[in-house]
Amino acid sequence: MKTKLHERSLVLLKPDTIQRGLIGEIVARFEKKGLKITALKMVWPTKEMAAKHYDLPESAMRQLGERTLATYAEKGQKHRTNDPLEIARDIMKKLVGYLSAGPIVAMVVEGVHAVAHIRKIRGATNPLAADMGTITADYAVDSYFIADLQARAVRNLVHASGNVEEAETEIKLWFREGEIYDYDLAIEKILYSKEWEAK
Ligand code: GDP
Ligand code: MG
Repeated sequence: MKTKLHERSLVLLKPDTIQRGLIGEIVARFEKKGLKITALKMVWPTKEMAAKHYDLPESAMRQLGERTLATYAEKGQKHRTNDPLEIARDIMKKLVGYLSAGPIVAMVVEGVHAVAHIRKIRGATNPLAADMGTITADYAVDSYFIADLQARAVRNLVHASGNVEEAETEIKLWFREGEIYDYDLAIEKILYSKEWEAK
């Protein structure tokens, strides 16, 4: 059942999720929300695959670097450089190592406003800034500061597409269409069925 505003998102449970034994807990959060998992598999990404996943356009790279600089400014801290692109390029190199460090779980998760809902459930990229109740706040103790100090990517357990366009590109990278299943979920009937309204 596809209504207007139906979206797909790519969710990756990064190697730290698997090592921490949190696959079930994290998948459950998306299920309980009422989102629909239409594809799910375990993969051990190669460095090439990880690099393709993080091959972002310059605008997204700039955004990533700027967000990092803003986080430092908020806390009254100084980054070693003010160049957002340099920061982003550095992080990307580390990210390829992080994502290919072990098996991950890749999923396609769908629903109305799925991209925004999933980002909310995942929480802020930086666990230190995340709201309680989100995955990054509840399960991760890392921060940009400690991760940057140790020259590594911040361990935040879950990747979730940032917008619908990014989601479609990422889904094509990780899944063949035959691996994604089109089916109706009971919650869709509860939400969208006219039968439940008074006649
Ligand atoms: P996301 O979409 O919220 O996951 O974040 P981005 O796409 O901007 O960045 C990708 C990943 O890079 C994040 O999930 C983190 O693992 C890592 N990362 C992002 N920003 C920083 C940073 O400022 N420092 C460090 N060390 N890692 C970062
Ligand atoms: Mg992102």
